[in-house]
Amino acid sequence: MSGNRSVGQRARHLATLCFGILATTACFATNPASAGDCPGNPDALGTSRTLVVDPREHKRIGTMQYAETLPLQDHEVVLTFDDGPIPRNSDQVLAILAAQCVKATFFVVGRMAQEHPQGVRKLRDAGHTIGTHSQNHPLSMNRMSVEQAKQEVDAGIASVTAALGDAKALAPFFRIPGLLRAEAVEDYLASQGIQTWSADFPADDWRHISSAQVYSLAMSRLEAKGKGILLLHDIQARTVGALPHILQELKARGYRIVQVVPATPERPATPTEPGQWRLHPITETVATSHWPKIPNFVFANAEMLPGPALSDSDVHDGQLLVLAARRPRLARGAVPLPQAAPWPRQRLLQAPAATLDMPVPARDVFQIPERVHAELKAVTLLPRRAAEIATPPTAADATARLNGIDGGGLRRRPVRPSEMTSQSRRTEPLPQ
Ligand SMILES: [Zn+2]
Repeated sequence: MSGNRSVGQRARHLATLCFGILATTACFATNPASAGDCPGNPDALGTSRTLVVDPREHKRIGTMQYAETLPLQDHEVVLTFDDGPIPRNSDQVLAILAAQCVKATFFVVGRMAQEHPQGVRKLRDAGHTIGTHSQNHPLSMNRMSVEQAKQEVDAGIASVTAALGDAKALAPFFRIPGLLRAEAVEDYLASQGIQTWSADFPADDWRHISSAQVYSLAMSRLEAKGKGILLLHDIQARTVGALPHILQELKARGYRIVQVVPATPERPATPTEPGQWRLHPITETVATSHWPKIPNFVFANAEMLPGPALSDSDVHDGQLLVLAARRPRLARGAVPLPQAAPWPRQRLLQAPAATLDMPVPARDVFQIPERVHAELKAVTLLPRRAAEIATPPTAADATARLNGIDGGGLRRRPVRPSEMTSQSRRTEPLPQ
């Protein structure tokens, strides 16, 4: 009961702020539905507030890959579920959320919506936010042509809209399958007024792990960040098993659920400051700390090339070739090198642009014993083929390899250990 009172106090406090300070319609749009409003469960976690976002202002969110994320306050959480609906597990997820009066965002796959249109309507009827997740859940949107990507996006939206029977019931939110992002895909989505959603942390519920591990990962990663977007999959039985415990623990630790909805002419975006959209503000200090101030080599002889010869190193040749090609430095042009070693040189670091991507998640997010072996294996085999090294994997590939995220979607359901290894294998050169 004390929990109810605290929720009620928060609601009254926010109401006071609304009337006393802002007194705008946006305040009413974000008026919280307290846990005390949850029929039959006075101790429910509830949904503390609704956040209205304008996809045209913030096109890409989620610190796993982007510079911006939702403007959440400390201890606020947004739950997201991908790949559904499938009746058995998705219905259970809905029931668990309903029991706690928790609202979430579901990224629905078009083919799933075609097969289970009633499941999509259940999401709508329960008041959840519905976004899309492509038509066929391809794990190749980072490599396919823009035309193919458009087709996936548009067909997915059409399928989910058909299931709902009302385009307005669909939020312009999209999550790329496997988080295999590509600039062209994001640009297309933005051109359509669609917001690209990554996440702030996953719970690895597409992997072959127990519900207890899903719960543990969800809570530990949330604790590490203090707030954010949690990525889950409503088609996974282990997620069904973990979800009640996650919600229970969120309540116990004082976390609050936020539902996110898109702005409309009748429902303006919640007023925010630009800085609120950055979980970790990017500063010049951050850039400096990652930039080598002094190179690992100097040039005493002006006749020398700036890069070490491939034979100078016992590192795999292709890697050095790639590094040299990527960082043309002093050797460009015909200007003779000075007698003195040109390094270290003071360089003015450019502050990253506001839309700078952050494709590689923090390493600690993925420090899971069973993945370590796969990563080491990949590193060992990588340089075998110069041809492959000459066309290094994209940042999105690297992210996907780190994440191992495929959502457990249409291709891989349920996920088996053999499938996990097959993903690693796909990123490695073929045996010669
Ligand atoms: Zn997925």
